[in-house]
Amino acid sequence: MDTKELYREILNEHNINPNHKKELDGSTISLNGVNPSCGDNITLNLKVDNGIITDGSFTGSGCAISQASVDMMLDLVIGKEKSEALKLAENFMGMIKGTATENQIEELDEAACLQDISKMPARVKCAVLGWRTMKECFETENGSTTAENPECCSSN
Ligand SMILES: [Zn+2]
Repeated sequence: MDTKELYREILNEHNINPNHKKELDGSTISLNGVNPSCGDNITLNLKVDNGIITDGSFTGSGCAISQASVDMMLDLVIGKEKSEALKLAENFMGMIKGTATENQIEELDEAACLQDISKMPARVKCAVLGWRTMKECFETENGSTTAENPECCSSN
């Protein structure tokens, strides 16, 4: 199986059998994320306790890329500190822009299978939807839109 085929398999698997597509009891933040250009519409639910993402889920609908991407993101960030999750989000945005290092991409684990999206501009918004929504969740939660790294993704 070549890498491209493997990536397709991972994407399909997350799309057909998402681990985190469900309602979440006791979420502390929920935020709707929309990508009108494709019709992707998700609600991201996170349970944050003492700065640690202890659980998360998403609901809604959208294309395979948006759904698989948010599912893979939740696989990665549940159990991590918010700051780590934000760092992974930066890695992901960097990968999509084609600026991430090999190490940064490696840290994304299965989400690395979306790296070819950087060559498909029309699908970029689908791929980053969940990650962007997670960032916005934390910014909303802090009661401020001033991110720690204002240069990150401001153009998206
Ligand atoms: Zn889409």
